Amino acid sequence: MVEVLSRLNRIIIFLLHGVNVENASYGLTICAERSAICSAVSGGCRNFKVIVIATGAVSDDCIGPCGACRQFLAEFGTEWDVYFTRKDGSYKKCTVGELLPHAFVPESLNRSGNAYIS
Ligand SMILES: [Zn+2]
Repeated sequence: MVEVLSRLNRIIIFLLHGVNVENASYGLTICAERSAICSAVSGGCRNFKVIVIATGAVSDDCIGPCGACRQFLAEFGTEWDVYFTRKDGSYKKCTVGELLPHAFVPESLNRSGNAYIS
């Protein structure tokens, strides 16, 4: 975990790195996004403001997280920012909620742990 001072907001930011953790049984592979979030949670962080997704992939477009990662991010709220970077340093920005509209989130459960049916 690396701690830096944001030049824009004058707030302390913790930079956490995530990597893809490949598995011979492909279904058990964990993406870098979930890896970074698990690292943060294990360090006591559950309130996120931004995640930056950077890839080395050669593409003209930004590459977003997979569906599983979108759901995983939404568990921690839908109003935080996601940046997608390109190799040339340009980027796109959106919120988790924009990535996964109508997300199934903790608030989707009632107090007995059952999902609301609407
Ligand atoms: Zn993923």
